Amino acid sequence: MTDGAKTKKKAKKKAKKKAKKKVKKIQCGKCEGLCCRYFALPIEDPEDWDDFDDIRWFLCHENIDVFVEDGDWYMNVRNKCKYLSEKNYKCDMYEKRPKICRGYKIADCDYTSDDYGHELQFKSDRQMEEYMKIKFGEKVLDKLNPKKKKKKRKAKGKR
Ligand code: SF4
Ligand code: SF4
Repeated sequence: MTDGAKTKKKAKKKAKKKAKKKVKKIQCGKCEGLCCRYFALPIEDPEDWDDFDDIRWFLCHENIDVFVEDGDWYMNVRNKCKYLSEKNYKCDMYEKRPKICRGYKIADCDYTSDDYGHELQFKSDRQMEEYMKIKFGEKVLDKLNPKKKKKKRKAKGKR
């Protein structure tokens, strides 16, 4: 590559970076700090009925959803960071903000991306219940019903 071409490439890169920064500034100005209103934690991939039932238990709690991305399972806690100002949607501890906030990339921005690439998403325990029915059969929750268990035992005893 000639020196002229190299300089042109560098200038193009610089302009692109500048444009990206500008876009971020504009969109952050319009946004209510969506990226500071949740955190997602990786969870173990469920393998059997008990694992799926544990996830159903997570989903019984408020402001929790569970999603699968690139084959990995995550619990999403929809809880606002207490340092996000509701007056101007800025960080009240900007200078001391944790490493994870500093490393947040524009590519991960929630405001612009409408495709999160989730293979699965559960917003409630009922949704998980339906999924478990498909996976393990319609009577999948019967084993949690002590009355049905007793009846079964009784019927067995009669025989
Ligand atoms: S979600 Fe995106 S636009 Fe909104 S504050 Fe965070 S980085 Fe800025
Ligand atoms: S510390 Fe600041 S940047 Fe980090 S999540 Fe809270 S408000 Fe957002």
